[in-house]
Amino acid sequence: MKTPLTIAVDGTFASGKGTLSRRLAAHYGITHLDTGKLYRATARDCLAAGVALDDADAAAKIAGAIDPETLTDPGLKAGPVGQAASKVSVHPPVRAALLAFQRDFPAKVGGAVLDGRDIGTVVCPDAHAKIFVNADARVRAERRAMELQGYGEDVTVESVLADLRERDDRDMNRAIAPLKPACDAHLLDTSALSIDAATSRAIEIIDAVLAAKAPT
Ligand code: C5P
Repeated sequence: MKTPLTIAVDGTFASGKGTLSRRLAAHYGITHLDTGKLYRATARDCLAAGVALDDADAAAKIAGAIDPETLTDPGLKAGPVGQAASKVSVHPPVRAALLAFQRDFPAKVGGAVLDGRDIGTVVCPDAHAKIFVNADARVRAERRAMELQGYGEDVTVESVLADLRERDDRDMNRAIAPLKPACDAHLLDTSALSIDAATSRAIEIIDAVLAAKAPT
């Protein structure tokens, strides 16, 4: 294979795409990039600098100056940062500022699984394999509520469900790079699947796609 292995995993909020992507990266021996963290870090840095989330140009400057070393900050996972991330991610200059880092990533690290919202459609349209992950909204809300409660956040399934609907709606209906499956993406519904079952299914899909693309 000439270009380093690139796997695109897109999907809805709390669909399980992050855990799935980490496991796929381990399985294929490549690096995982959670691209949501770039938008979360942009939102975090905007909030810290007092930059309004609707100020596209100021937010883009912040996006362009993100230090990749800070992407491990556990504060990035907090619910309000996620909502703020979905607000800054609607701005074309913010998306443009983050594009090259994501696009260049697989070649820089010798292959990668990127997970996000527009990986298969915009960031890596030539990815070797593309998975689009979704699950029933209530199942996703239950999973995410449990995770946030684990971080000590005072949330209920109902409050997470409302947040999730608002976020999905904004991500799917924005003018630029909206959340949608690429036409060559394989859909994976994780509503009734454990993480082990979802990972096995994704590996089956990816192996079949890679085998079909391999030179004979
Ligand atoms: O995946 P995560 O919930 O961490 O992403 C936070 C927000 O960042 C999403 O709701 C979405 O608005 C934005 N995002 C995006 N494109 C990506 C990854 C995340 O617009 N590739």
